[in-house]
Amino acid sequence: MPDAKTHDAINIGTMIAILAGLSYLVIWEKNSIAVRYLNSYTIALFSMSYLFGTFFLSPDLDIESTPYKRWGVLRFIWWPYKVIFKHRGISHNPILGPLSIVANLAVIVALLLLLAGVDLHTVPLRFAVVAIVGVMLSIEVHIISDFLVSKMKDPF
Ligand SMILES: [Zn+2]
Repeated sequence: MPDAKTHDAINIGTMIAILAGLSYLVIWEKNSIAVRYLNSYTIALFSMSYLFGTFFLSPDLDIESTPYKRWGVLRFIWWPYKVIFKHRGISHNPILGPLSIVANLAVIVALLLLLAGVDLHTVPLRFAVVAIVGVMLSIEVHIISDFLVSKMKDPF
């Protein structure tokens, strides 16, 4: 399977393609939904969430991986995840993978926001959705790259 550097490169390449596609839809007004909902805020938030997902929320958090080490002192957040799931198990399932990673993070972020005294109802739903879509997409791209590379190595 690809190493962390290759995964980052594939993810960033895919992001550039997605952004190019979205820009095309908006600039040339090809799609009314895109024109209505995509503005510089949602696109910037999407890109940041996607990049954050790429570098910090990789499905390889289920092992002692580069993304796991990137958490530094905060890596304890992912320790249960790493211990509970065996490598390329649930975390690399196209549906359960992103859900389990986002759920783990959502619980922690919600706890931190509550501890910081933020009223969770004040976070606009649209922004939460955009951020989750960005993260989920970065995870899917990782899972698809793992799948394609293992298929190429062992086609039968
Ligand atoms: Zn992987």
